[in-house]
Amino acid sequence: MPTFPFLKQEMRRKGSMSGSVLVSTFVGLIINQAKNSKSAQGLVGLKNLGNTCFMNSILQCLSNTQSLRDYCLHNSHRRDLNNNSRTNTALMEEFAKLIQTMWTSSSSEAVSPSEFKTQIQRYAPRFVGYNQQDAQEFLRFLLDGLHNEVNRVTVRPRGTVEDFDHLPDEEKGKKMWSKYLEREDSKIVDLFVGQLKSSLTCSHCGFCSTVFDPFWDLSLPIAKKGYGEVSLMDCMRLFTKEDVLDGDEKPTCYRCKARRRCTKKFTIQKFPKILVLRILCFGQQNVTLLVNCPFKHVFCRLAVNAVYNLYAVSNHSGTTMGGHYTAYCRNPSSGEWYTFNDSRVTPMSSSQVRSSDAYVLFYELSPSQKPLSMHCKLNSGPDHAFPSSSSSLCDLLVCLKPLKLRRRSLFNFFSCFLSSRFSALNSCW
Ligand SMILES: [Zn+2]
Repeated sequence: MPTFPFLKQEMRRKGSMSGSVLVSTFVGLIINQAKNSKSAQGLVGLKNLGNTCFMNSILQCLSNTQSLRDYCLHNSHRRDLNNNSRTNTALMEEFAKLIQTMWTSSSSEAVSPSEFKTQIQRYAPRFVGYNQQDAQEFLRFLLDGLHNEVNRVTVRPRGTVEDFDHLPDEEKGKKMWSKYLEREDSKIVDLFVGQLKSSLTCSHCGFCSTVFDPFWDLSLPIAKKGYGEVSLMDCMRLFTKEDVLDGDEKPTCYRCKARRRCTKKFTIQKFPKILVLRILCFGQQNVTLLVNCPFKHVFCRLAVNAVYNLYAVSNHSGTTMGGHYTAYCRNPSSGEWYTFNDSRVTPMSSSQVRSSDAYVLFYELSPSQKPLSMHCKLNSGPDHAFPSSSSSLCDLLVCLKPLKLRRRSLFNFFSCFLSSRFSALNSCW
């Protein structure tokens, strides 16, 4: 049987299809073998190398991120590796190797992530040693490192200052996003990066300036002080709530050319496939706040409709200095939930996922629910979500299916859809 090091060399030659097929088949074979064995795939613990529970917790969350797991299992990352120099791809290689081991191991014995740790330390020296670290910071460094090694952009274009301020917000957001992709474009970006819109409105002249920024995760403040239950939706609402900037915080209005009292507001312009939410406790570590995590659906009625399903949680208990991290993850193959506590993996019921220790939450955009960006008023009935003019007919049908419209409404719906498609054309005539 061919071994991995041999195939690895094969794969280094770009476009070596036979190598890639071989590796996929090889991995496929092992997966099937593991399937037949008693241990379910992916249910492998990670050895604690000394205060590395923060790393293990995040690695388990990422291991249960289906698209990322498949990217590693199918060796798709090898196509994207920037193989300008060997040392520039070691983090992605080690990460993929670890995921492959976790998903193909036929024994249920915990795996040691020490080789991986060596590489993350090389990339981010702050992780050298065995101090307790912040799981979310670790996630940021890791995703950034992986992204850099599989960035499809090898030569970044020279930065040019383009002004999109004259464009409508929707257009401006799109332009800013494509400018971002000109520099940062990878599988990691495909999955984890969204776009945040912040608008600043002057209370004096009403001028509104908008800024679009990519985000890799969102930090949500706890919507409640003291003890008690708080829903994630409340935290989301607090995050997107209009905020007044006054006093020392007064920004300079572009039109007034003076410092004015302004209102600031965040909205999500582009929803990422994987939404990572970090729960901010504002240094209230001694106060236990129960974050009620609706694990089935989160309806984000912000700018558009999006449905996210929770699939992984990194939990933190104790204080920042001396705490412990664990993970709750839904196995993408079986759909069952498990607790990952370093080397231990135990089944859990989905109702236990509601946790007071939830620190980093991983949500996956529901595949049947693509974000919709236009609303259409139907003659009979309330407002219904309506696909944008760039949506396919398939999207439209998905959107229509649950509505059970009468024939008359259906006609209105389609004419509305068609007119949106042709409005651009009309304006040319
Ligand atoms: Zn103003």
